[in-house]
Amino acid sequence: MNCAEFKNWLIDKDGHDQSADQDAKLHRLSCARCEKLYRLDRRMEERLAESFVEVDLPADLFEKIQRDERYAGIKDPGPALSSKFSAAILATAVIIVVVFFNPFKSPMRSIEEISTLVLANHLSNDTSLAFMAGQISDVSNWFAAKIGYPVHVPDMAAEGFTFLGGRKCSLGHQKAAYLVYEKEGKKCSLFIIDRNDLGFDLERDRKYSVDEQGHSIKVWSDKDLVYVMVM
Ligand SMILES: [Zn+2]
Repeated sequence: MNCAEFKNWLIDKDGHDQSADQDAKLHRLSCARCEKLYRLDRRMEERLAESFVEVDLPADLFEKIQRDERYAGIKDPGPALSSKFSAAILATAVIIVVVFFNPFKSPMRSIEEISTLVLANHLSNDTSLAFMAGQISDVSNWFAAKIGYPVHVPDMAAEGFTFLGGRKCSLGHQKAAYLVYEKEGKKCSLFIIDRNDLGFDLERDRKYSVDEQGHSIKVWSDKDLVYVMVM
């Protein structure tokens, strides 16, 4: 089981057989991120269980929600459902949003999403660079301090790329290393991303190619890093 499969298991853990439960347990024992997610989920569930007993919501809550046009269409659960149950439904909705669609740090979920994000940076008017080639001796550590993880900068001189400089950049909610190269008079952008910032699994030893708006985008991974080249 990988991280993405673990998340799916967590969302629907009562609907799985025991072998999936066992796989999930094995995965979280070897994956600190998923273990943390699992514990968070357990804590939320415990609190939710408590809220069934203790929380009493104002009787007019659903009217208030209905008056808010963002929630237009939500039906009053009627007298059959108590306000305590409504509280549980709302709490569950909050958990789902926070844990699984984490609005604060949502991962990139597909090659297409990565492509769109890197292309926006590649085509952006922000041409500033934090350092030029040769100015920094340890680029890996420079990025470790700026984006929280060391990056291994591949040597691409043999493939005709001249390194110009770099800076950090944002891809959605994630920070990434942004390196600018030149090849045959054209600007090329190399993005280096933490594999953990991806919400899906990239096959190792595979190079993905995408063509978007006349640009060629290549995505590959090496160890814990994902490389994206835009030309
Ligand atoms: Zn995991």
